[in-house]
This record gives sequence, structure tokens and C-alpha cells, in this order.
Amino acid sequence: MENLKILKERKDQIYQKGSESFEMSCEKNSLAGSISQRACVFCGSRVVLYPIADALHLIHGPIGCAAYTWDIRGALSSGPQLHRFSFSTDLSESDIIFGGEKKLYAALDELIDIHKPKAAFVYATCIIGIIGDDIDAVCRKVSQEKGIPVIAVHSEGFKGTKKDGYAAACNALALLVGQGEISKIGPLSLNIMGEFNIAGEAWSIKEYYQKMGLEVVSIFTGDGRIHDIKKSHGASLNVVQCSGSMLTLANHMEEKYGIPYIRVSYFGIEDMSKALYDVADFFNEDPSVMNRAKEIVKQEINAIYPQLKKYKKALEGRRAAIYVGGAFKAFSMIKALRSIGMSVVLAGSQTGKQEDYECLRDMCDDGTIIVDDANPLELSKYCLEKKVDLFVGGVKERPMAYKLGIGFCDHNHERKISLAGYDGMLNFAREVYSSVKSPVWDLMP
Ligand code: SF4
Repeated sequence: MENLKILKERKDQIYQKGSESFEMSCEKNSLAGSISQRACVFCGSRVVLYPIADALHLIHGPIGCAAYTWDIRGALSSGPQLHRFSFSTDLSESDIIFGGEKKLYAALDELIDIHKPKAAFVYATCIIGIIGDDIDAVCRKVSQEKGIPVIAVHSEGFKGTKKDGYAAACNALALLVGQGEISKIGPLSLNIMGEFNIAGEAWSIKEYYQKMGLEVVSIFTGDGRIHDIKKSHGASLNVVQCSGSMLTLANHMEEKYGIPYIRVSYFGIEDMSKALYDVADFFNEDPSVMNRAKEIVKQEINAIYPQLKKYKKALEGRRAAIYVGGAFKAFSMIKALRSIGMSVVLAGSQTGKQEDYECLRDMCDDGTIIVDDANPLELSKYCLEKKVDLFVGGVKERPMAYKLGIGFCDHNHERKISLAGYDGMLNFAREVYSSVKSPVWDLMP
């Protein structure tokens, strides 16, 4: 295993800090045959729109695409659960030869009558891009007949990277924004963007902002509702986490409605506190907002700090690898792991940009491997070489970590434990401690 080799075409997407000049090649299509850890364009759209709980999500394509993304996120809803179905037109050979538009129309007609959604999203998958079904025309027709927005999401899987799927989802959301009534929304108001309510995280974040005296108009898209999205242009500020997934929409809303945005992260004490302070700073015409933010930070840190200290003592000197979707999340992870005594020796992302990797380079210690669009072989190689104790990643990295005898913390959208906010930081430390210190690793050959 120690002699694992990387593909020569991948060399300019892997960098070891301190050993060579930094020129990361990124934002390009995955190398054919390298078994990229990335998801497809369709999956990118699906994960962004999925948490909208009162919408119908219909996948136009073969059943495999729907199975691949069925209940893909642990995104909770306080009301409807319609998002948790994975409806599909289940295209077969004859549909692909003769076209799937009739089947799409029939599926929409029946599903809207049964479930009475507030809107419907129709996802185009690979095969739709190949056979050329006019899903826009079908969506327009059904929208007129049923009186709800029926929106085509152009997310043909092969046409780019997962990031293009995020953009397609943002373009779909942009069609809803601006349609609602905003006269009752006050100036101390914001939208939470890029927070998907995994294990109820968006509810905690919303509560912090409400305690600061701010009105949360809409959450994109955790516990999302069509009605809230339609009036989101009435907010004074967009607060964007997970910038890869939401920047297209934030930029659109800034251009069209003049709503500025700031980028934040809710992972780790440092970044969570910074998010509250940055938002309070935006509303500085009312000093009580900042005063309340300071009080929240003080109370929350005091509540978790003694327990964090215990975990830090036990984890001091252990090494971690991070592989995440967007690189922005990796920045917070590095800080959060350092705060519990661990160092990061491998950091990578599926969709990072040049400036993200430059920031990663500046944050990381000498010798850290930084990788773009990795595959399991590369991740395994560097985990072994760097003697990693913990892998922080998603569902695709979990089996690899366990096979290598490495502790694992799920920080992706399938998890069922909240890791955002102050309580989330404590959960994170507990997860890391439980996995790294598990006696099972002593039994590994
Ligand atoms: S859209 Fe294409 S790449 Fe994505 S799951 Fe379907 S067939 Fe696979």
C-alpha cells in the first residue's frame, strides 16, 4: 500500500506545502478513469434544492439517478416531508428512443394532483441532455394548467462539475425570488444562505440571529418553503455559508435587488463567533445588535469550553485529513481541529477555486498535502504516508478510512448529528474523540 502511485496527469492538482512552488490546477473536468470523488452536475442541483420541503422534486431520467440521490441529506423539516421522496419518470429504452416528454407531463400531472406542492422542480439528467426532451415547454404547460411554479433545472450530469449543478439550482431559485409580498419586512432582516438544516443546524443558527433582534426572512434552503423564498428579496442582507453552492444566487440578488452579501462559516467556535460579529457589524446603526451578539458568544463559549478542554487534552498531537465539497469549509475545519489539539496533514476539496487553495496554502503547516478533485487512491496514499489518525469527509470517504484503520468523522450532508454552532462544535469534538480513541483500531493488523 505504501507504494501507491498517482496518475501523472493528476500531478498539477496535488501540492505539498513547502516543497515546491505553488501552482494548483483546479476548476477543471475530472480526469477520465481517475475515479473522482466528485458527484455529478445533477447531484449538485439536487443537494441544493432538496431541503425545500413543500416542493415536488421530480427527476426526469432513468431510475438510477433517483436512487443515487434518494433522501440524500439529513435535512430536517418542521412541517411537510415531501422533499424526502425521490420521484422519477423512470425512463426506459423505448422512452429514450421515442422521447420522454409525454411521460414527464403525465408524471407531473399525477404527482401535483396527489401531493398539492407549492412548486415543482424537474431535474434534467444525463440522458435528457442526449435525447433533447424540451422540459422547459412541458414545465410551462403544467405550470399554466396547475397554477404553481414548475421549474426546469438544467442539471444534465455530464455537462460539467458538481459546481455547475449548484449554479443550475441557483438559477432555478432565482425564478422564485421576487414573486412575494415584502411590505411587512423590516430593515433588520437577513436571509441565511447555504445552510441546509442538517440535523436541525439551521434552526440553531436562526435562533442566534433572532436573539440578536434580527428577522430571518428565508433560509436557502434548510427547512425551506416556497413562500419564504419568493419574498427573500425583501431582506437587507444575504449571509452566505457554503459559498460554492450559493454565490450564483447571492450575486444575482445583489445585482437585481441591491442586497449585499457577506460570507461566513458556522463551524468551530472561531468562525461561528466571527459570523455573528460580522452580521452585527453590518447592522451597526443599531448598537444593541452587537451587544446581544457579544452576550450570545460569551454565554455559548462558557457553556462548552470546560468539556472541549477535556477532549483537547486527549487528542493533543493527533493528525487529521480533510476532504470536503467546497474548500471554504476546509478553512473552518482546520481551525476547529487545531482548537482541539489536532493538526491537519492533508486538506482537499472537490470544487475549490485557485484563491481557495492559496488560502489553504497560507493556513496549512509545512508538509501538508493540498489536493483538488482527489480519488480514493490518492487519499489512501497520503493518509498512509502522513500517518493520519482521523479522516473528516463524506459518505464516499468513510469506507476508505475504515479499511485503512483510521478514525472517521462524517462532515457531509448525510450525517444525523449537528456540527454547526457552539453545540455543534462540542458534538464535533465528541465525534472526533470517540472515533480516534476507539479501541477497535488496536485490533488492526
Ligand atoms: S445524471 Fe448522469 S452522472 Fe448523474 S446520476 Fe444520472 S446518469 Fe449518473
